Amino acid sequence: MKETQKAGVRPYLHAIYQNNRLRFAVTLAGYLIFGASDTVFSILQGEILNVIVLGSLSRLLGLAALLAALLILQFAISSATYYLKCRFVHQGIAQYKGVLFRQLCKKSIAAFQQESTSRYLSLLTNDAGSIEENYLNRTTLIATMGFTIVTSLTAMVLLSWKLTLLSLFLSLIPAAVSAAMSGEMTRREKAVSDQNEHFVANLKDFLTGFAVVKGFKSEDGMIARFDEMNRKTELCKQRRRWWDCLVGAAGDLSSGIFMFGPYLAGALLALNCEIAVGTVVSVVNLCSTVAWSIRDFPGFWASRKAARGLIDKAAQAVEEHAGRSGRHIAPVLRQGIRLSHVSYRYDGSSTEALRDVSLEFEAGKSYAIVGGSGSGKSTLLSLLMGASAQYGGSITIDGQEMRDIDPDSLYDLCSLIGQNVFLFDDTVANNITMFRQFPADAVERAVQRSGLAPLAAERGLNAPCGENGCQLSGGERQRVSIARCLLRGTPVLLLDEATAALDNRTAFAVTQAVLDLDGLTRLVVTHRLDDALLRRYDEIIVLRDGTVCERGRFDQLMRRMGYFYSLYTVSKE
Ligand code: ADP
Ligand code: MG
Repeated sequence: MKETQKAGVRPYLHAIYQNNRLRFAVTLAGYLIFGASDTVFSILQGEILNVIVLGSLSRLLGLAALLAALLILQFAISSATYYLKCRFVHQGIAQYKGVLFRQLCKKSIAAFQQESTSRYLSLLTNDAGSIEENYLNRTTLIATMGFTIVTSLTAMVLLSWKLTLLSLFLSLIPAAVSAAMSGEMTRREKAVSDQNEHFVANLKDFLTGFAVVKGFKSEDGMIARFDEMNRKTELCKQRRRWWDCLVGAAGDLSSGIFMFGPYLAGALLALNCEIAVGTVVSVVNLCSTVAWSIRDFPGFWASRKAARGLIDKAAQAVEEHAGRSGRHIAPVLRQGIRLSHVSYRYDGSSTEALRDVSLEFEAGKSYAIVGGSGSGKSTLLSLLMGASAQYGGSITIDGQEMRDIDPDSLYDLCSLIGQNVFLFDDTVANNITMFRQFPADAVERAVQRSGLAPLAAERGLNAPCGENGCQLSGGERQRVSIARCLLRGTPVLLLDEATAALDNRTAFAVTQAVLDLDGLTRLVVTHRLDDALLRRYDEIIVLRDGTVCERGRFDQLMRRMGYFYSLYTVSKE
């Protein structure tokens, strides 16, 4: 089975066969024995007929005993083969999905944000199912069919070369049909996979936004969208299934020709007394075995090729927007982070979200970043998290240019607490530790500092959070995300309106706790302009329309009576 292998596909094919080759080989051997046994049984059938014509009871009994022994042997071999095959298929598909998921985890946040998650849902469910059935399950069957065809044809040549020659000529028909139809099958299978991806994307959107849809009474619009998606998906599947059936029907037709042709020709030879009746039966039986194999072969081969196309698709999806690799950096900040004339424009946007920003964040100090909505605060933090390498100017971490740094090692240096908190449908404790191991006292400290102690005392850390934290209040969700970051203890903490969902008192306490953390570099985007807190920052950076318009300590900025002063006084009114 020659297959063109793109470099990216290799890990996936390797995953399927890893520690699974022996099982595959033994399964294949078992199937080949079946293939051969079909030939033996066909010959035996002819022999029985010849014995009837000869009228020899003792030979008949001998043949019966041989047949019984062969049937028992076949049962033993087939049970063992099926068992191994099941293990091969399921270990193979589990390993395939495992590798796909691991490759997916290697993507950087920035790369993943450019893609649709439904694509991966589809790759790991619908497409994996197709690969399991059509690629793994059928590989051995296809090999057996090939082998059956060879052994049966050999036996046929030995029995009657004239009949075999005729059969070979007729066998060209199904082969031509197969070649003509398999390309279209691959296209249709891919269309189903692509359409399914859209379907899952839409459905996911709807389920996530269920409350919004109901609240705005837009069910009708949603139903129309669903119906349209549903119709298109099923149409693609219908077109694929129709082609599958058509391939089957074409196979039926060609195998019919292949089966009856030799029958009639054999009858003619027997009437001419050129061959025995039993031989005609043997050859026709062998012919029908070959015909069955040939009948299924095009369909199986086309599906297998189509499923193989899905592995290509997965490999391609994972490689797309592949995270840039770069130099690994240690998770310590010695001097600081420096931005020099940084500008940044989002893809497709006509204006710059950041313009000529030059700043310096010294290690161990705390900075407040303030400014109106849309002034570029979140953009600044996301660039510091390595979201894009397409910025103008330079951003350096301890002198190393950001775009040359491996984003993965950046995540050990900086952690970001954002406006949107994501919680897993698991316990509070697991959402804080993010399924990693930490000493109990470290978890306890993070719980205390993030203001989660009352929740822990009341419900315990093993309380469930619910889907995306629906069993917690907005404030509690935010506190879990803060505890998560404090526990990881990266030397740089970036907070983007992290206390926005908290009441004033809790927000104050949480920010105090963050400012009390010694030795950390903190960049805190905040719209709470509380003088007691603002005085504690080493520097306040004021952004306006993507540029730094003022910076300094609280008292300096207030004395200037500029933009910050007006922001502060408006917030106090
Ligand atoms: P802030 O956090 O200060 O409210 P942002 O940094 O989120 O502001 O946004 C700065 C500007 O960039 C805004 O004009 C916003 O519309 C734009 N922007 C933000 N995110 C994107 C995005 N993903 N694609 C295009 N434009 C964006
Ligand atoms: Mg923002």
